[in-house]
Amino acid sequence: MKMYVCCPICSKTLIQAETIKNGIIKCESCHKRIIVEIDKGKITAVPLELEN
Ligand SMILES: [Zn+2]
Repeated sequence: MKMYVCCPICSKTLIQAETIKNGIIKCESCHKRIIVEIDKGKITAVPLELEN
């Protein structure tokens, strides 16, 4: 089963892989850095830099 993470800002798919590692990913679409965290199979993606 493949897992995927979508950008929380623009909803572009960031990763589509069998294994996802914790880390920071730069979105190719909106160029924001996204923090990806996996905890017990649950994936969360939050923007590293919040815009005001
Ligand atoms: Zn994005």
